[in-house]
Amino acid sequence: MEVVKELMDGKLVRVGAICNFCKTRLSASSNGGTGHLRRHILSCKKKAVGGSSSSQFHLHFDSAGNVQHFVYKPMVARTELVRLIARLDLPLNIGEQPAWGDYIRTSFCPDYIQVSR
Ligand SMILES: [Zn+2]
Repeated sequence: MEVVKELMDGKLVRVGAICNFCKTRLSASSNGGTGHLRRHILSCKKKAVGGSSSSQFHLHFDSAGNVQHFVYKPMVARTELVRLIARLDLPLNIGEQPAWGDYIRTSFCPDYIQVSR
């Protein structure tokens, strides 16, 4: 969630939050609770993994110059993560770190599902 603040009586006050997945603006006043934000994140992630975002294709060119669409395959991602860990001598639990999942989802694949050892 991205925090939305507004200037009220000369003071910067939190008034809302914008979901990083679907860009929905939700109320989040400084004196209110955050339970609805948590519930939104849980339901919104479900939508992102199982629904609309997977219907959009990522186009790229293959080695022969033909246009191909990228399809996220969890097992390929898992195998390639293991190869990356071995090649770069990274910590074995790097794939379990929330920061790793955030990085991959934000930079490459919103459908990325984190793996464990
Ligand atoms: Zn959302």
